[in-house]
Amino acid sequence: MTLNDLKTGESAVITRIRGRGAFRKRITEMGFVSGQPVTVIRSAPLKDPVEYRIMSGNVSLRRSEATQIEVASLGIDAQTSPVHVFQPLENGSAQTLRAVQPDKQVKVALVGNPNSGKTTIFNRVSRSREHVGNYSGVTVGSKMASFHYRGYGFEFTDLPGTYSLSAYSQEEVIVRKHIMNEQPDVVVNVVDANNLDRNLYLTTQLIDMGIQVVLALNMYDELEVRGDAIDFEQLGRMIGIPIIPTIGKRGKGIHRLLNKIIGVLEEREPAAERHTQINYGLEMEQSIDRVQKIIEDELDRFRHYSTRYLAIKLLEKDEHCISILAAVPGYETIQETVSHEINRLKSLYQEDTETIITNARYAFISGALRETRKKGDRDPVLTRTQKIDRILTHKYLGFPIFMLFLYIMFQATFSLGNYPMEWIGMGIDTMSAGLNQLLPAGIVRDLLVDGVIGGVGGVIVFLPNILILFFFISLMEDTGYMARTAFIMDKVMHLFGLHGKSFIPLIMGFGCNVPAIMATRTLENKQDRILTMLIIPFMSCSARLPVYVLIAGAVFPGHAGNVIFGLYLVGVVVSLLMAIILKKTLFKNKEAPFVMELPIYRSPGIRMILRHMWMKGMHYLRKMGGVILVASIIIWALGYFPRQVDYSKDYEALIQTEELHLNYLESYEEQIDQSYMEEQMEESRERITSLNVQKRTEHQEQSFIGRIGKTIEPVIQPLGFDWKMGISLVTGFAAKEVVVSTMGVLYQETEQGESTVSLQEKIRSQEYHTGPRSGQKVYTPLAGISFLLFVLLYLPCIAVVVAVGREAGHWKWSALVLFYTTAIAWTVSFCVYQIGSLF
Ligand code: GDP
Ligand code: MG
Repeated sequence: MTLNDLKTGESAVITRIRGRGAFRKRITEMGFVSGQPVTVIRSAPLKDPVEYRIMSGNVSLRRSEATQIEVASLGIDAQTSPVHVFQPLENGSAQTLRAVQPDKQVKVALVGNPNSGKTTIFNRVSRSREHVGNYSGVTVGSKMASFHYRGYGFEFTDLPGTYSLSAYSQEEVIVRKHIMNEQPDVVVNVVDANNLDRNLYLTTQLIDMGIQVVLALNMYDELEVRGDAIDFEQLGRMIGIPIIPTIGKRGKGIHRLLNKIIGVLEEREPAAERHTQINYGLEMEQSIDRVQKIIEDELDRFRHYSTRYLAIKLLEKDEHCISILAAVPGYETIQETVSHEINRLKSLYQEDTETIITNARYAFISGALRETRKKGDRDPVLTRTQKIDRILTHKYLGFPIFMLFLYIMFQATFSLGNYPMEWIGMGIDTMSAGLNQLLPAGIVRDLLVDGVIGGVGGVIVFLPNILILFFFISLMEDTGYMARTAFIMDKVMHLFGLHGKSFIPLIMGFGCNVPAIMATRTLENKQDRILTMLIIPFMSCSARLPVYVLIAGAVFPGHAGNVIFGLYLVGVVVSLLMAIILKKTLFKNKEAPFVMELPIYRSPGIRMILRHMWMKGMHYLRKMGGVILVASIIIWALGYFPRQVDYSKDYEALIQTEELHLNYLESYEEQIDQSYMEEQMEESRERITSLNVQKRTEHQEQSFIGRIGKTIEPVIQPLGFDWKMGISLVTGFAAKEVVVSTMGVLYQETEQGESTVSLQEKIRSQEYHTGPRSGQKVYTPLAGISFLLFVLLYLPCIAVVVAVGREAGHWKWSALVLFYTTAIAWTVSFCVYQIGSLF
């Protein structure tokens, strides 16, 4: 019988795991090991995948994967007790890797399962302390904070979440490299107190590494609600690691945690002194010993790695460790011993060495917990989650609810965001009017008003929209709903050759493509990762939103919300189509396993969400001060210079004549027929304005930017764009908001000659002055749609292009992203405009 044969609500005991490699590894570290009871919770609305309860967590598997797990009915023939009995090793041979001198810099790394609360604790620890910043370089995605506490200079690193350290996924590689290369003095292992059976699996690997660990027993509040009890002092003594209960969310236990770290550094912690090791069983321990001896004999250079750890890893056939060791002389001898031992153990136990080691780790955990944990008989937290899930992943309701959520998200972003947007807009207008009065006419005033305020101001008004969008994305992430969307979407994603886990990065792409590209790290399979990265740029990021709001608002007033929602949908459709095409051509590979934890629902708390919003907002503002400011000034300068151009008419003279005429009329105003004179004067004023606009337009067309624009015009004319739109698109490569700021700079002039009308008004009134379309409006509804589609689909901004290259591991993927997105954008806009023009 396999797991797939069980019906909803049924339970069984796992007897054997078939399958191999990554799948097997992944599944065992989630807790699917022989002897474990497992219960079917429910299947997704489309019947696949299925949610199971294993250890104290919920995990989803595809049906095809469930058939790889053999089970037996509860209580019958199941061989429930794992191979080894818990009996920690305690001996002097354990290496403590470094002794730390007090009063020095202390490096601390936070390690733990996803969702165990690492980031929460990190934020608590580093809050309002000296410096929090992004850590750039290889470990993108991990954050660092440094501060002083009780005479120590702490340097905390928040690492990505992992279930083990087996180097199968990108996160695991990052965490492992960090521990190996950075050599933190203390690793803080953050564990979810409510799922110790699985969380401690990672801890066993840290124990093997022989590093100093302090365990933060987080989510202690939920443990108490559940009525469980843990004798953590005793547990700490048994596993040789000091344990501190913490409630990250409320900042409880943080000081004690820091003090405990100091205690370990000052060697005052009895638990840390005991150097417990995991007992892998008599035969396995003999093999470990032999391999360890050989490594010690052959190599000096691995002093800072624990040789026991290396020996275990070699017996586990860990590719990463093998590749490290393979590079050194004497590896042959080691390899010989290792293979010999692996074969010996295999014939002895009739099991893979990996399985023997994994089982021993789980046995160690369950042995330790059996003596120290008392389970309560109720579980209100889980009950609540299951109640919520009954609705949110319901057979029929699941999808409609999700769609409704997305719809509300976009509507709120647009309509709710309108009010603060207007206020900010008014503030900016007042500011530029004020500067206009204060400063004398000249280049400085032009630079400040037209370049800086025109450019940056045009973009800053969209801050509220972006904050609202991030509010919703944070809400999804922090509550646990995001994982459910992957669960209900997996079957659908599968149709397009994608993985359910690709869905989360795709949704994140609505916020910003860069973190979305980084979020593909949760996909274990490299090919799946690259495929997902290639289609993320079609997920319309929040930087494109200002362009939509501006253009849709100008061209389709009253329907802007629907037009924008439609654009997002088009983006999704194009990305899915591209996924099918790419899967059929470039990525004809096998499926990666879909093993995913479904965390319990948590109310994230308004503080948390506001904090996320604030961080995103600050990021947006920083971008404003950086790339957008620079781009605005460059564009302004390119449009401002050269000052001397050949005009088709002598505007100065014409304007002067007209002004003289006006003066003349004014001086006679009293004497002749009032109304006639008024009319004459009005006409004269209009002529002056018109001459001014003509002059400036002509100047702009002959400026550097005008010349560039004219050069690219033939390429974009068939799409219905004029040269100003073309320039805006080119500058959008720096960042998508720059499209708007460029327009803000380029459209300073209007037919009415008033610079205070909104950018939307200016866009609405743009007309062609020359060429076959002369006199026609630039932004017809058709041109507007064509432009919006182009902005949606064409090349992503430079940051995304760089991120793709870095994450995919080769610049050729960057080049591909640049080229193919733009080709698609051009084709779509061309078809829409040309076909639309026929009607
Ligand atoms: P990470 O993935 O390990 O970085 O986990 P996070 O720090 O993002 O936390 C995951 C979720 O757990 C968030 O919704 C937190 O608000 C919540 N959380 C963190 N610590 C605690 C805690 O001690 N108690 C409870 N109830 N929730 C917590
Ligand atoms: Mg985190």
